[in-house]
Amino acid sequence: MESSSAATVSAGPSPGPAPADLLRRLRARGAADPVTHVERVPARPGVPAPWPSWAPPELRAAFARRGVVAPWQHQAQAATLAYEGEHVVVATGTASGKSLAYQLPALATLLADPRATVLYLAPTKALAADQLRAVAALELEGVRPACYDGDTPRAEREWIRRHSRFVLTNPDMLHHGVLPGHAQWSGFLRRLAYVVIDECHTYRGVFGSHVAHVLRRLRRQCARFGSTPVFVLASATSGDPSTAAGRLTGLPVTAVTEDASPRGGVTFALWEPPLLPPDSGPSTPVPPQSTGDHDDLQQVRRSALRETADLLADTVAEGVRTLAFVRSRKGAEVVAANARRALDDAVPGLGGRVAAYRGGYLREERRELERALLHGDLLGLASTNALELGVDLVGLDAVLICGYPGTRASLWQQAGRAGRSGQEALAVLVARDDPLDTYLVHHPEAIFGAPVEATVLDPANPYVLAPQLACAAFEAPLTPADLALFGDGAKEAVDQLVAAGALRQRPTGWYWRHRERPEVDLRGEGGAPVCVVESSTGRLLGTVDGGSSHFLLHSGAVYLHQGVSYVVDDLDLADGCALVHAEEPDWSTHARDVTDLSVVSVRSYVDAGPVGMFLGEVDVTSQVVSYQRRRIATGEVIDTRPLDLPARELRTVAVWFTLSPQSLTLAGVQPADVPGALHAAEHAAIGLLPLMATCDRWDIGGLSTAVHPDTEAPTVFVYDGHPGGAGFAERAYGTAAAWLRATRDAIAECGCESGCPSCVQSPKCGNGNNPLSKPDAIRVLDVVLANLPE
Ligand SMILES: [Zn+2]
Ligand SMILES: [Zn+2]
Repeated sequence: MESSSAATVSAGPSPGPAPADLLRRLRARGAADPVTHVERVPARPGVPAPWPSWAPPELRAAFARRGVVAPWQHQAQAATLAYEGEHVVVATGTASGKSLAYQLPALATLLADPRATVLYLAPTKALAADQLRAVAALELEGVRPACYDGDTPRAEREWIRRHSRFVLTNPDMLHHGVLPGHAQWSGFLRRLAYVVIDECHTYRGVFGSHVAHVLRRLRRQCARFGSTPVFVLASATSGDPSTAAGRLTGLPVTAVTEDASPRGGVTFALWEPPLLPPDSGPSTPVPPQSTGDHDDLQQVRRSALRETADLLADTVAEGVRTLAFVRSRKGAEVVAANARRALDDAVPGLGGRVAAYRGGYLREERRELERALLHGDLLGLASTNALELGVDLVGLDAVLICGYPGTRASLWQQAGRAGRSGQEALAVLVARDDPLDTYLVHHPEAIFGAPVEATVLDPANPYVLAPQLACAAFEAPLTPADLALFGDGAKEAVDQLVAAGALRQRPTGWYWRHRERPEVDLRGEGGAPVCVVESSTGRLLGTVDGGSSHFLLHSGAVYLHQGVSYVVDDLDLADGCALVHAEEPDWSTHARDVTDLSVVSVRSYVDAGPVGMFLGEVDVTSQVVSYQRRRIATGEVIDTRPLDLPARELRTVAVWFTLSPQSLTLAGVQPADVPGALHAAEHAAIGLLPLMATCDRWDIGGLSTAVHPDTEAPTVFVYDGHPGGAGFAERAYGTAAAWLRATRDAIAECGCESGCPSCVQSPKCGNGNNPLSKPDAIRVLDVVLANLPE
């Protein structure tokens, strides 16, 4: 939920230096200028719109009492589309007031039709609870909003089903509770006018594909009861929100993307830490398992953590209230400690005005830290992420972002903590040693221009579709007409379920054969999830899907859970359980795997002369064989330790390209350098895919080879790391030219000599980043791009 008016801070210290002056002083410190780009994001006045004529006076008055004088233009536009019966997604920035866009049509309808109902879905219980408070505060008669989730007491559930007309829940509860119990919900579903899906960009990958089918099951039940609700979705800004929302709901969805809410001006700098000279002390990682002579070619950048700590010390010394975002809690503490030390060296006692925001703190202690920062008693705070912070912690003078947080939505959520009305603020993105970060600091248009990264999901994944159809059949027999609703592959999945004895075909449709309902976990993916258990207390901390468990929960792994660090003592695959203890070592762990791959079928391809681009099914065998321990503060590799884990088989979707050996020779790639060229291109391509789709490195894998038995050519594969695929490879195929162009540029623009973690090295490479050839990777990608149609 977001407030619908601009947040303001009344109290605060006197304004510090203007952002441009501050930035000039920060960048003048070193020998080389680390700033690659400065973007002036101008202040934007809001564009208000009149209340839509259909909004009843009673509702306008209720919003006015809550301080909403008039809607912004995008709110009014989306609300009117929804009120007129169009499915709509509003995809605008943080704190742009998306909630008003769905509250307005939904509540107007509830007031006009005393029987109508609304279903609201949030990805978390906390968000649903926030939204409940907001709707309840409007004090509208007869709406009776209520949360219905796992925590709702049994005694209240029946009252809610019968009397609430605005039910707030989550997809898991819809899946496990509402849909299987549809008979009890028939009155509510029969009168359902709106389905609101908040933060819909969080429904991505395998989880998103499951949710897509839960929504189709909901639509089927509504149709059986004679209702056809309008879907209103709220999303963070992303590429192509209309397509993503359409895939999620299975309906045509109109997008509203023009943000008309006001914002303060921000000077936004992109900052690339300098390259360190080769073998300069502790920051030089030694590649394990390597026997070659390329160790001495290792070159790295100054760590983003050190750079951020220095920047924090400098801004604090200028009296500027600064919030630094760091990915891990340990990292946040390193930044705070280094900044404190630097400040105390300069002015004894000044270090006391910097703190780390500790995940273990009580809510009250956190709010106290936030208050101290807002009022200027504290000048610097290093924190793990924006989600833990109170919503009131805005209006700061400077925000430092240590490493690209993965999506534009998160980036703007963090940067949005800076700036208040009438005053300019500074934001700095400090690049980590990662190809995506390198690309972004050299391509500001990817941050400040139109978004390209899209929320992807793949409802046709057979590993999702079959269990979801089983759930649907349990709720009511499937008919041939239903198959169209569930989309491509539904008939095949039903045939499989019949062959497996789960469904029985009768003249009237397909029937679930068992008494119990199918057990389907929306967040799982076929294989049983692994439980993470704290040894000393037996407390269940959470679950990790079976596929990722080898990477994240192997013995010795440092596992982060809600900002708290644990170390894994033992991964018991037979019991599906990892035993951990709380510990905060100075290192992080990085698992490495080796992979084998065979092509099963080709779904689609582009024949581009010497280059071929393919999308298809593949079988992947991968084995996590070792892990690296690295110092958090410096990135220095401490050691590599072997692991004894079984190989894992995966049928999934891959995108791959081939090149003719002749085209490589013509481009100047010597045959001996082909493996290193392809390998380097593969690493960087994986690193850049999150630019096109909201995924991270753990969602995808890759393989490259100078000749693959199935393609009989030099080939680079990039595959979805989830059974059946999650839409990432498909998105890569659909945007292949743009994706590989960005990959090429990231490699070419990295100032290192022969490859580094900021361009072609990968932290999860099972071959110890050997062989890699940076210049030849550029040649390979140039050949692909010269032939591939845009
Ligand atoms: Zn590099
Ligand atoms: Zn590799």
